Amino acid sequence: VTIGILKEVVAGETRVGATPDTVKKWVGAGQRVIIESGAGVAAAFTDEAYIAAGAEIVSATDAQGADIVLKVRAPQAGDIKGFKSGATVIALLDAYREKDALKALADTGVTAYAMEFVPRITRAQVMDALSSQANLAGYRAVIEAAHLYGKAFPMMMTAAGTVAPAKVFVMGVGVAGLQAIATARRLGAVVTATDVRPATKEQVESLGAKFIAVEDEEFKNAQTAGGYAKEMSAEYKAKQADLVTSHIGKQDIVITTALIPGRAAPVLVNAAQVASMKPGSVLVDLAAPQGGNVEGTLADTVVDANGVKIYGPSNIVTAIANDASALYAKNLQAFVGLLINKEGQIAPDFEDEILKAALVTQNGAVVHPNLQN
Ligand code: NAD
Repeated sequence: VTIGILKEVVAGETRVGATPDTVKKWVGAGQRVIIESGAGVAAAFTDEAYIAAGAEIVSATDAQGADIVLKVRAPQAGDIKGFKSGATVIALLDAYREKDALKALADTGVTAYAMEFVPRITRAQVMDALSSQANLAGYRAVIEAAHLYGKAFPMMMTAAGTVAPAKVFVMGVGVAGLQAIATARRLGAVVTATDVRPATKEQVESLGAKFIAVEDEEFKNAQTAGGYAKEMSAEYKAKQADLVTSHIGKQDIVITTALIPGRAAPVLVNAAQVASMKPGSVLVDLAAPQGGNVEGTLADTVVDANGVKIYGPSNIVTAIANDASALYAKNLQAFVGLLINKEGQIAPDFEDEILKAALVTQNGAVVHPNLQN
Protein backbone atom coordinates (compact mmCIF):
# COMPACT_ATOMS: atom_id res chain seq x y z
CA VAL A 1 0.00 0.00 0.00
CA THR A 2 1.21 3.50 -0.80
CA ILE A 3 0.36 6.12 1.82
CA GLY A 4 0.48 9.72 0.57
CA ILE A 5 0.77 12.89 2.65
CA LEU A 6 -0.22 16.22 1.10
CA LYS A 7 0.88 19.71 2.04
CA GLU A 8 -2.14 21.61 3.39
CA VAL A 9 -3.39 24.39 1.12
CA VAL A 10 -6.04 26.07 3.30
CA ALA A 11 -4.69 29.49 4.36
CA GLY A 12 -3.10 29.44 7.81
CA GLU A 13 -3.21 25.65 8.17
CA THR A 14 0.20 24.66 9.52
CA ARG A 15 -0.47 21.07 10.55
CA VAL A 16 0.45 17.92 8.64
CA GLY A 17 -0.95 14.38 8.65
CA ALA A 18 2.27 12.44 9.32
CA THR A 19 5.40 12.82 11.41
CA PRO A 20 8.77 11.06 11.08
CA ASP A 21 7.56 8.91 13.96
CA THR A 22 4.43 7.64 12.19
CA VAL A 23 6.36 7.25 8.92
CA LYS A 24 8.92 5.02 10.62
CA LYS A 25 6.18 2.72 11.91
CA TRP A 26 4.53 2.40 8.49
CA VAL A 27 7.80 1.78 6.70
CA GLY A 28 8.71 -0.78 9.37
CA ALA A 29 5.43 -2.54 8.62
CA GLY A 30 6.32 -2.75 4.93
CA GLN A 31 4.22 0.16 3.61
CA ARG A 32 5.49 2.77 1.16
CA VAL A 33 5.10 6.40 2.32
CA ILE A 34 5.27 9.31 -0.13
CA ILE A 35 5.22 12.89 1.13
CA GLU A 36 4.71 16.07 -0.84
CA SER A 37 7.83 18.18 -0.60
CA GLY A 38 7.55 20.72 2.21
CA ALA A 39 4.38 19.15 3.68
CA GLY A 40 5.69 19.30 7.25
CA VAL A 41 7.77 22.46 7.16
CA ALA A 42 5.17 24.70 8.83
CA ALA A 43 5.00 22.19 11.69
CA ALA A 44 8.81 21.94 11.93
CA PHE A 45 9.08 18.52 10.28
CA THR A 46 11.63 18.76 7.47
CA ASP A 47 11.76 16.69 4.28
CA GLU A 48 15.13 15.37 5.52
CA ALA A 49 13.54 14.08 8.73
CA TYR A 50 10.86 12.24 6.74
CA ILE A 51 13.52 10.78 4.41
CA ALA A 52 15.53 9.62 7.42
CA ALA A 53 12.36 7.88 8.66
CA GLY A 54 12.05 6.02 5.34
CA ALA A 55 9.63 8.17 3.31
CA GLU A 56 10.08 9.36 -0.27
CA ILE A 57 9.63 13.07 -1.02
CA VAL A 58 7.49 13.55 -4.15
CA SER A 59 5.48 16.17 -6.07
CA ALA A 60 1.92 17.12 -5.09
CA THR A 61 0.53 15.18 -8.07
CA ASP A 62 2.41 12.03 -7.11
CA ALA A 63 1.29 12.25 -3.48
CA GLN A 64 -2.33 12.71 -4.62
CA GLY A 65 -2.08 9.42 -6.52
CA ALA A 66 -1.46 7.31 -3.38
CA ASP A 67 -3.76 4.43 -2.33
CA ILE A 68 -4.41 6.10 1.03
CA VAL A 69 -4.19 9.90 1.16
CA LEU A 70 -3.89 11.48 4.61
CA LYS A 71 -4.77 15.12 5.15
CA VAL A 72 -5.61 17.54 7.92
CA ARG A 73 -8.34 19.62 6.21
CA ALA A 74 -10.92 18.77 3.53
CA PRO A 75 -9.25 18.33 0.11
CA GLN A 76 -9.58 21.35 -2.18
CA ALA A 77 -10.00 21.33 -5.98
CA GLY A 78 -6.23 21.27 -6.52
CA ASP A 79 -5.88 18.18 -4.31
CA ILE A 80 -8.82 16.27 -5.69
CA LYS A 81 -7.73 16.30 -9.33
CA GLY A 82 -4.93 13.81 -8.65
CA PHE A 83 -6.95 11.31 -6.59
CA LYS A 84 -7.33 7.77 -7.99
CA SER A 85 -10.86 6.43 -8.19
CA GLY A 86 -11.19 3.86 -5.41
CA ALA A 87 -8.44 5.42 -3.29
CA THR A 88 -9.01 6.15 0.40
CA VAL A 89 -8.90 9.72 1.74
CA ILE A 90 -8.92 10.53 5.46
CA ALA A 91 -9.11 14.05 6.95
CA LEU A 92 -10.93 16.35 9.34
CA LEU A 93 -13.46 16.96 6.57
CA ASP A 94 -15.74 19.36 8.49
CA ALA A 95 -18.43 17.41 6.68
CA TYR A 96 -21.47 19.31 7.97
CA ARG A 97 -20.19 22.60 6.59
CA GLU A 98 -18.04 21.56 3.61
CA LYS A 99 -20.92 20.11 1.58
CA ASP A 100 -19.60 21.17 -1.85
CA ALA A 101 -16.13 19.83 -1.12
CA LEU A 102 -17.71 16.56 -0.04
CA LYS A 103 -19.74 16.27 -3.25
CA ALA A 104 -16.60 16.95 -5.32
CA LEU A 105 -14.80 14.28 -3.31
CA ALA A 106 -17.59 11.76 -3.89
CA ASP A 107 -17.52 12.50 -7.63
CA THR A 108 -13.88 11.36 -7.87
CA GLY A 109 -14.91 7.91 -6.61
CA VAL A 110 -12.76 7.93 -3.48
CA THR A 111 -13.71 6.31 -0.21
CA ALA A 112 -13.49 9.18 2.27
CA TYR A 113 -13.56 9.10 6.07
CA ALA A 114 -14.18 12.12 8.32
CA MET A 115 -11.98 11.96 11.42
CA GLU A 116 -14.39 14.24 13.30
CA PHE A 117 -17.05 11.50 13.05
CA VAL A 118 -15.00 8.86 14.87
CA PRO A 119 -17.28 7.88 17.77
CA ARG A 120 -16.25 8.71 21.36
CA ILE A 121 -16.07 5.05 22.42
CA THR A 122 -13.24 3.58 24.46
CA ARG A 123 -11.76 1.55 21.57
CA ALA A 124 -11.59 4.70 19.43
CA GLN A 125 -9.90 6.96 21.99
CA VAL A 126 -6.53 6.59 20.24
CA MET A 127 -8.19 7.87 17.03
CA ASP A 128 -10.13 10.71 18.68
CA ALA A 129 -8.79 13.72 16.78
CA LEU A 130 -11.43 16.06 18.21
CA SER A 131 -10.07 15.36 21.68
CA SER A 132 -6.39 15.46 20.74
CA GLN A 133 -6.83 18.86 19.13
CA ALA A 134 -9.30 20.28 21.68
CA ASN A 135 -6.89 19.47 24.49
CA LEU A 136 -4.14 21.52 22.83
CA ALA A 137 -6.64 24.26 21.96
CA GLY A 138 -7.62 24.61 25.61
CA TYR A 139 -4.00 24.89 26.64
CA ARG A 140 -3.19 27.41 23.95
CA ALA A 141 -6.28 29.54 24.68
CA VAL A 142 -4.87 30.28 28.14
CA ILE A 143 -1.43 31.05 26.69
CA GLU A 144 -3.01 33.50 24.21
CA ALA A 145 -5.04 35.08 27.01
CA ALA A 146 -1.92 35.47 29.16
CA HIS A 147 -0.18 37.10 26.21
CA LEU A 148 -3.00 39.60 25.65
CA TYR A 149 -3.39 40.34 29.36
CA GLY A 150 -1.37 43.27 30.66
CA LYS A 151 -0.91 41.74 34.10
CA ALA A 152 0.55 38.58 35.63
CA PHE A 153 -1.29 35.30 36.25
CA PRO A 154 0.37 34.12 39.49
CA MET A 155 0.28 35.88 42.80
CA MET A 156 3.72 37.36 43.51
CA MET A 157 4.77 38.74 46.84
CA THR A 158 7.71 41.04 46.30
CA ALA A 159 9.54 43.73 48.28
CA ALA A 160 7.79 46.29 46.08
CA GLY A 161 4.36 44.94 46.76
CA THR A 162 2.02 42.08 46.01
CA VAL A 163 0.74 41.16 42.56
CA ALA A 164 -2.76 39.68 42.83
CA PRO A 165 -3.47 36.38 41.05
CA ALA A 166 -5.53 36.56 37.86
CA LYS A 167 -9.15 35.41 38.07
CA VAL A 168 -9.96 33.06 35.20
CA PHE A 169 -13.48 31.90 34.30
CA VAL A 170 -13.81 28.92 31.94
CA MET A 171 -17.19 28.49 30.26
CA GLY A 172 -17.83 25.06 28.73
CA VAL A 173 -15.91 22.23 30.36
CA GLY A 174 -15.41 19.61 27.65
CA VAL A 175 -11.95 18.49 26.61
CA ALA A 176 -10.74 22.02 25.78
CA GLY A 177 -12.25 23.59 28.90
CA LEU A 178 -10.69 21.03 31.23
CA GLN A 179 -7.24 21.65 29.78
CA ALA A 180 -7.83 25.42 29.99
CA ILE A 181 -8.61 25.03 33.71
CA ALA A 182 -5.51 22.91 34.28
CA THR A 183 -3.30 25.36 32.37
CA ALA A 184 -4.66 28.44 34.14
CA ARG A 185 -4.13 26.71 37.50
CA ARG A 186 -0.53 25.83 36.56
CA LEU A 187 0.05 29.51 35.83
CA GLY A 188 -1.24 30.36 39.28
CA ALA A 189 -4.66 31.79 38.46
CA VAL A 190 -7.75 31.49 40.66
CA VAL A 191 -10.15 29.53 38.44
CA THR A 192 -13.92 29.17 38.27
CA ALA A 193 -15.77 27.20 35.59
CA THR A 194 -19.28 26.48 34.37
CA ASP A 195 -21.08 23.95 32.18
CA VAL A 196 -24.60 22.62 31.72
CA ARG A 197 -23.59 18.97 32.11
CA PRO A 198 -23.67 17.87 35.79
CA ALA A 199 -20.79 15.41 35.23
CA THR A 200 -18.42 18.33 34.80
CA LYS A 201 -18.83 19.57 38.39
CA GLU A 202 -16.62 16.87 39.88
CA GLN A 203 -14.09 17.22 37.04
CA VAL A 204 -13.80 20.97 37.66
CA GLU A 205 -13.37 20.49 41.40
CA SER A 206 -10.78 17.74 40.93
CA LEU A 207 -8.65 20.28 39.03
CA GLY A 208 -8.78 22.68 41.97
CA ALA A 209 -11.25 25.10 40.41
CA LYS A 210 -14.65 26.23 41.70
CA PHE A 211 -17.77 25.11 39.84
CA ILE A 212 -20.61 27.55 39.37
CA ALA A 213 -23.81 26.82 37.43
CA VAL A 214 -27.58 27.02 37.52
CA GLU A 215 -28.18 23.57 39.03
CA ASP A 216 -31.93 23.15 38.46
CA GLU A 217 -33.98 20.17 37.17
CA GLU A 218 -33.11 20.95 33.55
CA PHE A 219 -29.39 20.97 34.41
CA LYS A 220 -29.74 17.46 35.85
CA ASN A 221 -30.86 16.23 32.42
CA ALA A 222 -28.72 18.38 30.15
CA GLN A 223 -26.37 15.59 29.06
CA THR A 224 -27.39 13.45 26.08
CA ALA A 225 -26.76 9.71 25.96
CA GLY A 226 -23.79 10.52 23.73
CA GLY A 227 -22.23 12.67 26.47
CA TYR A 228 -22.88 15.99 24.75
CA ALA A 229 -24.85 19.03 25.90
CA LYS A 230 -28.45 19.66 24.83
CA GLU A 231 -29.58 23.07 23.67
CA MET A 232 -31.01 24.68 26.83
CA SER A 233 -34.47 26.28 27.16
CA ALA A 234 -35.03 30.04 27.07
CA GLU A 235 -35.82 29.92 30.83
CA TYR A 236 -32.55 28.19 31.62
CA LYS A 237 -30.62 30.59 29.43
CA ALA A 238 -32.12 33.55 31.28
CA LYS A 239 -31.14 32.13 34.68
CA GLN A 240 -27.68 31.30 33.34
CA ALA A 241 -27.31 34.87 32.02
CA ASP A 242 -28.12 36.27 35.48
CA LEU A 243 -25.47 34.06 37.03
CA VAL A 244 -22.91 35.14 34.42
CA THR A 245 -23.81 38.80 34.95
CA SER A 246 -23.15 38.57 38.69
CA HIS A 247 -19.84 36.73 38.20
CA ILE A 248 -18.14 38.03 35.09
CA GLY A 249 -17.49 41.61 36.22
CA LYS A 250 -15.09 40.24 38.84
CA GLN A 251 -13.11 38.16 36.31
CA ASP A 252 -9.89 39.11 34.52
CA ILE A 253 -9.85 36.35 31.92
CA VAL A 254 -12.74 34.43 30.34
CA ILE A 255 -12.15 31.36 28.17
CA THR A 256 -15.24 30.11 26.33
CA THR A 257 -15.42 26.66 24.69
CA ALA A 258 -19.14 25.78 24.67
CA LEU A 259 -20.42 23.82 21.68
CA ILE A 260 -23.56 21.90 20.78
CA PRO A 261 -22.95 19.29 18.05
CA GLY A 262 -24.45 20.25 14.68
CA ARG A 263 -25.68 23.67 15.90
CA ALA A 264 -24.41 27.20 16.25
CA ALA A 265 -22.51 27.80 19.49
CA PRO A 266 -24.66 29.18 22.34
CA VAL A 267 -24.08 32.87 23.13
CA LEU A 268 -22.99 32.84 26.78
CA VAL A 269 -21.60 36.36 27.17
CA ASN A 270 -23.57 39.30 25.80
CA ALA A 271 -22.31 42.81 25.05
CA ALA A 272 -23.58 44.23 28.37
CA GLN A 273 -21.69 41.52 30.26
CA VAL A 274 -18.52 42.30 28.29
CA ALA A 275 -19.05 45.99 29.14
CA SER A 276 -19.26 45.10 32.85
CA MET A 277 -15.70 43.74 32.79
CA LYS A 278 -12.70 45.81 33.89
CA PRO A 279 -10.52 47.45 31.24
CA GLY A 280 -7.59 45.14 30.50
CA SER A 281 -9.69 42.00 30.88
CA VAL A 282 -9.43 39.40 28.12
CA LEU A 283 -11.93 36.97 26.59
CA VAL A 284 -10.67 34.15 24.37
CA ASP A 285 -13.57 32.57 22.45
CA LEU A 286 -12.72 29.11 21.13
CA ALA A 287 -16.23 28.75 19.70
CA ALA A 288 -15.53 31.52 17.14
CA PRO A 289 -15.64 29.11 14.15
CA GLN A 290 -19.15 28.01 15.23
CA GLY A 291 -20.37 31.61 15.60
CA GLY A 292 -18.84 32.37 18.98
CA ASN A 293 -19.91 32.21 22.65
CA VAL A 294 -19.19 35.92 23.10
CA GLU A 295 -21.21 38.67 21.48
CA GLY A 296 -18.85 40.74 19.35
CA THR A 297 -16.31 38.01 18.56
CA LEU A 298 -14.69 38.46 15.14
CA ALA A 299 -12.72 35.50 13.85
CA ASP A 300 -8.95 35.90 14.16
CA THR A 301 -9.18 39.52 15.29
CA VAL A 302 -8.47 41.03 18.70
CA VAL A 303 -11.54 43.21 19.20
CA ASP A 304 -11.15 46.07 21.68
CA ALA A 305 -14.49 46.64 23.44
CA ASN A 306 -13.80 49.72 25.61
CA GLY A 307 -10.54 48.30 26.86
CA VAL A 308 -11.73 44.69 27.11
CA LYS A 309 -10.07 42.45 24.53
CA ILE A 310 -12.08 39.74 22.74
CA TYR A 311 -10.09 37.24 20.69
CA GLY A 312 -11.74 34.47 18.65
CA PRO A 313 -9.08 32.33 16.98
CA SER A 314 -10.58 30.21 14.19
CA ASN A 315 -7.94 27.49 14.29
CA ILE A 316 -5.86 27.98 17.42
CA VAL A 317 -4.00 24.67 17.18
CA THR A 318 -2.09 25.98 14.17
CA ALA A 319 -0.13 28.02 16.74
CA ILE A 320 1.07 24.74 18.24
CA ALA A 321 1.37 22.84 14.97
CA ASN A 322 4.19 20.50 15.92
CA ASP A 323 2.39 18.88 18.85
CA ALA A 324 -0.99 19.16 17.12
CA SER A 325 0.41 17.31 14.10
CA ALA A 326 2.13 14.69 16.22
CA LEU A 327 -1.10 13.81 18.04
CA TYR A 328 -3.27 14.02 14.93
CA ALA A 329 -0.82 11.86 12.96
CA LYS A 330 -1.07 9.23 15.73
CA ASN A 331 -4.87 9.44 15.52
CA LEU A 332 -4.65 8.86 11.74
CA GLN A 333 -2.19 6.01 12.12
CA ALA A 334 -4.52 4.20 14.51
CA PHE A 335 -7.45 4.77 12.14
CA VAL A 336 -5.50 3.44 9.13
CA GLY A 337 -4.79 0.38 11.25
CA LEU A 338 -8.50 -0.47 10.92
CA LEU A 339 -8.24 -0.43 7.11
CA ILE A 340 -5.15 -2.60 6.59
CA ASN A 341 -5.14 -6.34 7.28
CA LYS A 342 -2.30 -8.53 8.55
CA GLU A 343 -1.03 -9.10 5.01
CA GLY A 344 -0.71 -5.34 4.57
CA GLN A 345 -3.63 -5.04 2.10
CA ILE A 346 -6.50 -2.55 2.29
CA ALA A 347 -9.41 -4.65 3.56
CA PRO A 348 -11.82 -2.57 5.65
CA ASP A 349 -14.61 -4.22 7.60
CA PHE A 350 -17.45 -1.85 6.80
CA GLU A 351 -19.47 -3.36 9.64
CA ASP A 352 -16.95 -1.99 12.17
CA GLU A 353 -18.84 0.71 14.10
CA ILE A 354 -15.91 3.12 13.93
CA LEU A 355 -15.58 2.86 10.13
CA LYS A 356 -19.35 2.98 9.73
CA ALA A 357 -19.55 6.20 11.72
CA ALA A 358 -16.66 7.89 9.89
CA LEU A 359 -17.37 6.77 6.30
CA VAL A 360 -18.75 9.71 4.29
CA THR A 361 -18.22 8.96 0.57
CA GLN A 362 -18.07 5.67 -1.32
CA ASN A 363 -18.64 4.49 -4.92
CA GLY A 364 -19.28 8.01 -6.20
CA ALA A 365 -21.84 9.06 -3.59
CA VAL A 366 -22.06 10.81 -0.22
CA VAL A 367 -23.17 7.85 1.91
CA HIS A 368 -23.27 9.11 5.50
CA PRO A 369 -26.86 9.09 6.82
CA ASN A 370 -26.47 12.52 8.47
CA LEU A 371 -25.34 14.15 5.21
CA GLN A 372 -28.24 13.21 2.95
CA ASN A 373 -29.79 16.65 2.48
P1 NAD B 1 -17.90 20.05 23.07
O1 NAD B 1 -16.68 20.58 22.39
O2 NAD B 1 -19.01 19.51 22.25
O3 NAD B 1 -18.51 21.19 24.03
C1 NAD B 1 -17.70 21.81 25.01
C2 NAD B 1 -18.48 21.94 26.30
O4 NAD B 1 -19.47 22.97 26.20
C3 NAD B 1 -19.25 20.69 26.75
O5 NAD B 1 -18.78 20.28 28.00
C4 NAD B 1 -20.69 21.16 26.79
O6 NAD B 1 -21.42 20.52 27.82
C5 NAD B 1 -20.54 22.63 27.03
N1 NAD B 1 -21.75 23.44 26.76
C6 NAD B 1 -22.62 23.32 25.73
N2 NAD B 1 -23.62 24.22 25.84
C7 NAD B 1 -23.36 24.95 26.97
C8 NAD B 1 -24.02 26.04 27.60
N3 NAD B 1 -25.16 26.54 27.12
N4 NAD B 1 -23.48 26.53 28.75
C9 NAD B 1 -22.33 26.00 29.25
N5 NAD B 1 -21.65 24.99 28.68
C10 NAD B 1 -22.16 24.46 27.55
O7 NAD B 1 -17.45 18.96 24.14
P2 NAD B 1 -16.30 17.86 24.00
O8 NAD B 1 -15.05 18.38 24.56
O9 NAD B 1 -16.30 17.33 22.62
O10 NAD B 1 -16.85 16.75 24.99
C11 NAD B 1 -18.19 16.24 24.82
C12 NAD B 1 -18.40 14.95 25.60
O11 NAD B 1 -17.63 13.89 25.05
C13 NAD B 1 -18.03 15.00 27.06
O12 NAD B 1 -19.01 14.29 27.78
C14 NAD B 1 -16.73 14.30 27.13
O13 NAD B 1 -16.45 13.75 28.40
C15 NAD B 1 -16.97 13.22 26.10
N6 NAD B 1 -15.73 12.66 25.60
C16 NAD B 1 -15.55 11.31 25.69
C17 NAD B 1 -14.40 10.72 25.20
C18 NAD B 1 -14.20 9.23 25.29
O14 NAD B 1 -14.67 8.59 26.18
N7 NAD B 1 -13.54 8.63 24.36
C19 NAD B 1 -13.44 11.51 24.60
C20 NAD B 1 -13.64 12.88 24.52
C21 NAD B 1 -14.80 13.45 25.01
